Amino acid sequence: MTQRVASKRGRSAAQREAVLRRAAGIRLRFGRLLRAWYRSHHRDLPWRRTRDPYRVLVSELMLQQTQVSRVVLKYGEFLEQFPTLDVLARARPARVMEAWSGLGYYARAKNLHRLARELAATGTPATLPAGAEALRLLPGIGPYTAGAVASFAYEQREALVDTNVARVVRRVVAPALDATRGADGGTIWAVARALLPRTGRATYVHTQALMELGALVCTARVRHCGRCPVRSMCATYEADRS
Ligand code: SF4
Repeated sequence: MTQRVASKRGRSAAQREAVLRRAAGIRLRFGRLLRAWYRSHHRDLPWRRTRDPYRVLVSELMLQQTQVSRVVLKYGEFLEQFPTLDVLARARPARVMEAWSGLGYYARAKNLHRLARELAATGTPATLPAGAEALRLLPGIGPYTAGAVASFAYEQREALVDTNVARVVRRVVAPALDATRGADGGTIWAVARALLPRTGRATYVHTQALMELGALVCTARVRHCGRCPVRSMCATYEADRS
């Protein structure tokens, strides 16, 4: 029994190694093709026009479990009422909840309000910290949101894996992995890190591009491989053709 477990672990480690080698092998070309595609095909979403950390945070919280079309409707309205962390900190809770209505999952709004009040209590103007680790200490900020603010607002070189990114990375590099299994999920994060460009600035475009590819081309329902910029190096596309 112990021998069987050890041999299974050995196989998993070997599989992970092979997947990471494959990611390292395609990194440069994959990144170039992906970013070139993004520049001419991405949607003009309002949160892509800003690098303001507070605005990035609001968009990331709103986008959790909520469709982009609904967030587009509420994002501008919310920021008109609460343009800065300080204004939000001074607002009555009922007003914040009202501005959030239509998006659901109100715990996000409560946490955002709490976060604004905590930061406003430490000095004016209230400012979000730049590092992912410091961001994670704030109310309602998990690893993904912390990484998103660090990358999208502060241009830090952070890998981000949401459902769209996980799907694209898995299909391109390792179709045999199952994103819902803990160990495979860890490997998908490792692959996402192995695919990152060298600089934080390029990482911003790279991550936005992966998300956009997963939302528009390599979707959960349909794979539009015919118009996919990375099909020449995609393991799933190759397997489909053989
Ligand atoms: S080639 Fe097809 S399966 Fe591969 S990433 Fe593109 S759309 Fe997805």
